[in-house]
Amino acid sequence: MIRFSNDDLSYLAWMAAHPDGFVLNVRCVADPDYVVLHRASCGSISTDKQAPAAFTGRGYEKICAVSVAELELAAKREGRNDGSFSKRCGLCRP
Ligand SMILES: [Zn+2]
Repeated sequence: MIRFSNDDLSYLAWMAAHPDGFVLNVRCVADPDYVVLHRASCGSISTDKQAPAAFTGRGYEKICAVSVAELELAAKREGRNDGSFSKRCGLCRP
């Protein structure tokens, strides 16, 4: 499991290397109401046509892992005591 902050290049490299992985979109200040699960293949979190720092800057960070179970642990650290997610992306349906 790896967390990306203000480093879109490394984030996008991880996404390219782990197309079957999962991504948690979180705020840089832990907010249990914003812990959103995506598949690494989801277009909404990986298109390279976005503005600089669109993914891991501007108040947001990404936590990447190869399994959902790891991200359940990450969700707990964001303040979700039961390890659930505030939302699962409706596009990629993880
Ligand atoms: Zn998604």
